[in-house]
Amino acid sequence: MNTELSSRISQTSRHTRAEADLVVEGGRLVTPEGVLDGTVVVRDGRVAAILAPGDPLPPGPRLDARGRYVLPGLIDSHVHFRTPGLEHKETWENGSRAALAGGVTTVMDMPNTRPPSLDAPSLRAKAALIAGRSYVDHRFHLGADPDHPEVLADLDPAVATSAKAFMAGHHTAPVVFREAHELEAAFASAARGGVRLVLHAEDQHVFDLLDSRSGDPESYDAYEPHRPRSGAIVAVAKVVQLARTHGTKVHILHVSSAEETDMLAAAAAEGLPITFEVTGHHLSFTDHDTARRGPRTRLSPAIRAPRDRERLWQAVLSGEATTVGSDHAPHTVEEKNRPPAEAPPGLPGVQELAVSVWTGMLARGIEADTAAAHLTRLMGTGPADLFGLAGKGRLSVGSDADLALLDPAARWQLSASHVESLCGWSAYEGWMFTGRFTTVVTGGRVAWDLERGTVGEPHGRWLPGPVPPAPEPVTPPTMDRELEGASR
Ligand SMILES: [Zn+2]
Repeated sequence: MNTELSSRISQTSRHTRAEADLVVEGGRLVTPEGVLDGTVVVRDGRVAAILAPGDPLPPGPRLDARGRYVLPGLIDSHVHFRTPGLEHKETWENGSRAALAGGVTTVMDMPNTRPPSLDAPSLRAKAALIAGRSYVDHRFHLGADPDHPEVLADLDPAVATSAKAFMAGHHTAPVVFREAHELEAAFASAARGGVRLVLHAEDQHVFDLLDSRSGDPESYDAYEPHRPRSGAIVAVAKVVQLARTHGTKVHILHVSSAEETDMLAAAAAEGLPITFEVTGHHLSFTDHDTARRGPRTRLSPAIRAPRDRERLWQAVLSGEATTVGSDHAPHTVEEKNRPPAEAPPGLPGVQELAVSVWTGMLARGIEADTAAAHLTRLMGTGPADLFGLAGKGRLSVGSDADLALLDPAARWQLSASHVESLCGWSAYEGWMFTGRFTTVVTGGRVAWDLERGTVGEPHGRWLPGPVPPAPEPVTPPTMDRELEGASR
C-alpha cells in the first residue's frame, strides 16, 4: 500500500468507534486509489470508513470478506427489463434478482417497452410500476422519438439525462430514425438539452439495400452476412459527423467490429464527446458460435469474427471503451425457436456480464488485481461518471454502501438452473466460469448471497438525477501562488 493511502486510511480509523450497521471484514478492496487489503465500515447506507489491516474494528454485524475482492456494487447501463408490456419475457423482479447474482446493484433500463417510454410522464409511470419490486437501484434512458425531437431539448434531468435512438429497426425497436433530417433534429435538440444520446448505430438503408437483393437467412450460418458490419460502419460514420456538427454527447452501444472501434477511438482522440460500450457477448462469442448454436447468439448487431472480438478486448483493456454492458434482452424459448428470419435478437446477460468479463481477462493472462481494477472502471466509475450516478460505482468513504464480493478463483459451470431471468435460458449454459459473486450488499444491507439468493424485501430506488456540482470554494490566492503567477 502506498504511504499516502495508508496514512489517509488510518486517519479515518479514528472515527470508527461508534456502532456500525455492517463491517465487511478483511477483503481485497477495489478502491479508486488502488487495490488493497482492508475492511469497509458501513453506517446509514453509506461507506463510513475504510480501515487498514490491524486497525481496531467498530462493534456491529460482521461480513467475512477474506479471500474475496470487495468491489463497489456494479452498474449495468444497458438492460431491457421489459416493463411495461413485455412481462412475458422478463419481470422486473426476475431481472433485478439476476442483476444481484451478477454483482450488479444499479441498472439503466431501455425504453423499447409496450408502450415505449418516449416522454417524461411515461418514465414517471414506469418508475411507479417498478416501485417496491426492484432489488436494485435504477435509472432510465428515455426513448428518442423522430416525431418529437423537441422532447430532448427540455428534458427534466431528474427524470433522465440520456435518450436511446435506434438507427435500424428490429423486433422490439419501437421507433426508428430512418431519415437524415430526423437524426439532424435529434442531435441538435439533444445538444440544446444537454442530453446524451445512446445509440443503436446500424444503418437501416444499408440493410434495406442488401435485403433488396438477397432474402431472409434460412440458417444461422447466413445470419452475420445478412446483417454485416457495413451497416454499423456507415452508421458510426454518420454519428461522428453529426456529433462534430452539433457537439452532441454520444455513447455508442454494442460496438461489434474492429472498424467501428478504430473510427470511434479516432473520434475521441479528435476531442469529440463520443464514448462507446462493448457488450459481454461480443467479448465472449464469435460468428462461429452463432452458426453452431443458432438463436441464442442471434444478436443485433450480429456477433462478428474472432479478429473483431480481439479488437474489442483491446478497446476494453486500453480504456478506449468507457463501459461494458449486458444488453440484457430476454425472449422466451418459443420466440427464439422461430425460423431464423423471425427469431428476435437478444439474450439475457445481466447475471453473466461481470463474470464473463472476469473469466475473459484471466484467460488473457491479466493478473487478478489488475482485472479487478479494469472491471471496476468498466462497470463502476465509467458508467457512473458518464450518466451522473452520484454515490455509485466507487468504493470510497461517503459512497452508497453497495458492495459485491467476488471469489476470484471459483471455478463453476453455468447451467439453466442458475438462471434468474424469467426466460430461463442462457447463451452461456455449459460455460466454465472463473470467479463467482458470493455476497451482494445494497444500501448497507446484505441483499443477496450464493446460499440463500435474495435476502429480504426489494428496496431498490429510482435514482434521482445528477446533483448539480457545488460552486467551487473561493480560496484567496496564497503568496506562493501569486509569486508563481508573476514569474510566468
Ligand atoms: Zn439493447
